[in-house]
Amino acid sequence: MKVIDKPEFEALIDEKISSDRRDVVGVQDDGEKYVFDDLDSAGDLALEYDVTMLSPKKYLMPQRETILEYRDANGEFEWRAKAEPDGKVIVGIHPYDLVAIEQLDKIFIDTLRDEPYRRKRENSLLIGVNMQDASETAFAASMGTATTDSGYDLMLTDLGETYAVNIGTLEGKEFLNSADVRKATAGEVQEVERIEQEVVPDLFERELEFSPALLPTILEENYDNMAFWEDYSEKCLSCGTCNMVCPTCYCFSVDMIRDLGTNSGRESRRWDGCLLEDFASVAGDENFREEVAERHRHRFMRKGWYIYERYGDIACIGCGRCTSECVADVADPCDVYNKLYQEAQAHAQ
Ligand code: SF4
Ligand code: SF4
Repeated sequence: MKVIDKPEFEALIDEKISSDRRDVVGVQDDGEKYVFDDLDSAGDLALEYDVTMLSPKKYLMPQRETILEYRDANGEFEWRAKAEPDGKVIVGIHPYDLVAIEQLDKIFIDTLRDEPYRRKRENSLLIGVNMQDASETAFAASMGTATTDSGYDLMLTDLGETYAVNIGTLEGKEFLNSADVRKATAGEVQEVERIEQEVVPDLFERELEFSPALLPTILEENYDNMAFWEDYSEKCLSCGTCNMVCPTCYCFSVDMIRDLGTNSGRESRRWDGCLLEDFASVAGDENFREEVAERHRHRFMRKGWYIYERYGDIACIGCGRCTSECVADVADPCDVYNKLYQEAQAHAQ
């Protein structure tokens, strides 16, 4: 573990803003919310934040991106992959969002072999920061994602006048090359351990009432509990916001777009979400999940059961974004899972 004085860290980030081939982005306070955005100066960083509105997923899987471009040469289509910008240097990622990115890596790189994602991911440098605050809707400690020892190039812990820096990769080590850093003392290493084990878990007001390892079973047993899903989804507006803000949701739709008046166009993709009414519509005017209760059920099943079955991950990292952004107040996974658990307990008695 290394230690860097805060002014030295800011000088390092400022140097990278002016010299790195990639854009440097980081967490900032926009006056209403915390957001990941382009950095003009390291002084704009707000690393003591609780949660950002969108996760850094938006840099690896943008809300809308062109994948292919084509030219129609008298009926002969010439396709070419869209030239990709380099990845980003992303500063200030909380551990739960690093865990979410590791889940996306499994899906997009290991399974789908998705080139646009892989290029951005492998060219990005992820600088994490241990949490100093948590939103009132977060429950990451219950999900085991409030701290992490993987998924980052560098991980910062605020020690007052300095940052302790865990180095996760060779690229992270090289990023520090031009900075004045020193080896952490035994006391500083102990202090980071104390923060991770005692301070961070205490930041959370909300908790799951049971081990997340039980989630797949609890959900499977409640697949046909339509009374529950209908009751819980009654006020849902099918706006899809809970999907859009989620760091582990990765569904997208593909559009073919012809540039009017030209012989060229592009294929692009945009975020999609299973709570939107048309998400499961297919040709022939069929919709596999026409009722809002079915869409609700699907979202929670996917988070806690389906993804676990396929990839071994619980696809909710407890950030609480869906809960805080749902105007109908019916998107809260912690509440849904606790209610299902309580029902199971009551039936067992
Ligand atoms: S649960 Fe809330 S955020 Fe999600 S679609 Fe329904 S109203 Fe929108
Ligand atoms: S389901 Fe909600 S709490 Fe869980 S990861 Fe997604 S946005 Fe965060």
